Amino acid sequence: EDTKQEAEARAPQAAGADGQAATGPDVEHVIGGRRTAGTSGRTAPVYDPATGQVARHVHLASAEDVATAVETAEAALPAWRATSLAKRSTILFRVENIIRERTPELAAIITAEHGKVLSDAAGEVARGLENVQFCTGVMHHMKGEFLEQAATGVDVHQIRQPVGVVACITPFNFPAMVPLWMITTAIAAGNTVILKPSERDPSAAVWIAEAFAEAGLPPGVLNVVHGDKEAVDELLTNPLVKAVSFVGSTPIAKYIYETSAAHGKRVQALGGAKNHMVVMPDADLDSAADAAVSAAYGSAGERCMAVSVLVTVGDVADPLIERIKERVEKLTIGPGTDPASEMGPLITRQALERVNGYVANAPAEGATVVVDGTQQHFDGEGFFTGVSLVDHVRPGMKVYDEEIFGPVLSVVRVDTFDDAVRLINTNQYANGTAVFTRDGKTAREFEFAIEVGMVGVNVPIPVPIGAFSFGGWKSSLFGDTHMYGPESFNFYTRRKLVTTRWPEPSESQIDLGFPTH
Ligand code: NAD
Repeated sequence: EDTKQEAEARAPQAAGADGQAATGPDVEHVIGGRRTAGTSGRTAPVYDPATGQVARHVHLASAEDVATAVETAEAALPAWRATSLAKRSTILFRVENIIRERTPELAAIITAEHGKVLSDAAGEVARGLENVQFCTGVMHHMKGEFLEQAATGVDVHQIRQPVGVVACITPFNFPAMVPLWMITTAIAAGNTVILKPSERDPSAAVWIAEAFAEAGLPPGVLNVVHGDKEAVDELLTNPLVKAVSFVGSTPIAKYIYETSAAHGKRVQALGGAKNHMVVMPDADLDSAADAAVSAAYGSAGERCMAVSVLVTVGDVADPLIERIKERVEKLTIGPGTDPASEMGPLITRQALERVNGYVANAPAEGATVVVDGTQQHFDGEGFFTGVSLVDHVRPGMKVYDEEIFGPVLSVVRVDTFDDAVRLINTNQYANGTAVFTRDGKTAREFEFAIEVGMVGVNVPIPVPIGAFSFGGWKSSLFGDTHMYGPESFNFYTRRKLVTTRWPEPSESQIDLGFPTH
């Protein structure tokens, strides 16, 4: 085990266990406030997606490393759950200040490993801070209920208590925001946490853990372990872990849900998405085109709320596609660190090949590639692709059925509003959706009928503001509690009911009947 300074002073490793040279120091776990490489001897490369070079290696925790972290969190639990809400709130105010003031530093770490442009990285930090702000009101969120005179001389009150050690397993695409969604509420509610960030961009989580430590969070309350399936499986099966929060792809979300439940844990597992944006004939087509381009290609389409299907109703398709083409021709794609770039690279070479594969196969499936970004040339070895627009897409085609998670927008042409609703309601994913119209009645009907968790009316990416909670339906969320905001205080607390009576000893009597009132 090393202190932070010792770890930073150590020379960068020439090569990780994966055999590739890296330019930066290894990414280590943070357990009990100390950095450690763990015991596994296994590492994975962390790339700079803009250059394709291995920037660092991340240590992958063994099951024993994870068990050590869990025991550390368990040991920190009694003191943390006894810490006053006033103290917790003060720490969270400091966390908010530290992260807000040093957002450019965190954004640079995100861009270096994820590839998204710096302004987008700063945006994700800001959205993560919404939940930190919400959690500073922990005194309000942890309030229970009191019912006087429920029966004669009997009062009932409900209190909220932490669940214990909580595991938070996060995806690559929001390396700061999603951890902040989970860990902040869990900690505010008095739990201790093991954060297992994506091994593809792990450094933001370490930076965040250090920000919490600097704000005064005691060691062991927030631990970061890096790793893959081996680390995750230990979290899902270790009896000391009481709750699991997960965000990632649908197959893994389902696995996390089933395995955690089989081991007696409460679990919320958010999965993948295929978000449809419906454009009605009465919509303003320039606004709709702006929204579609922003929501489809922002962050290279690597957002769970990205619009990936454009549903054109009636004769909207041709004029809308014309407008989208005009706009995408002007997009600047380049390294996320270049202020001129509007879109950066994809996360890995495999992701790049997978995304390009969908576009390459689309004509054979019967679709028309209107804009083919896969043919755009980029200098160097970065994981860049251009933006693609595919028309005449239908259910049954891979380009429609599967989550692409890249800058590919599919157009599905339908005749009527009812066709659009039916299309969306038969899709397995149900994270977000939007309708673009100038008619209030159409918008209301959409809101009423659509079977999707988050709905935008002339808003393409309807991520709820921090005072509400975030969650899709169907294969986009396994479990029933949404993330961050008020619902997350339910997830991270157990409610306890206390029934109280102060009878005169003289009133005492034996009564074998079931207590009524
Ligand atoms: P992923 O499912 O590959 O990985 C998510 C996490 O699971 C990572 O920490 C990873 O290490 C771990 N993991 C991966 N394979 C595992 C396995 N076999 N067993 C146990 N753990 C495993 O997802 P990703 O590629 O990092 O992120 C992109 C996905 O996340 C997309 O599908 C996207 O839609 C989804 N996502 C959903 C939301 C949402 O709110 N619903 C938000 C962000 C991202």
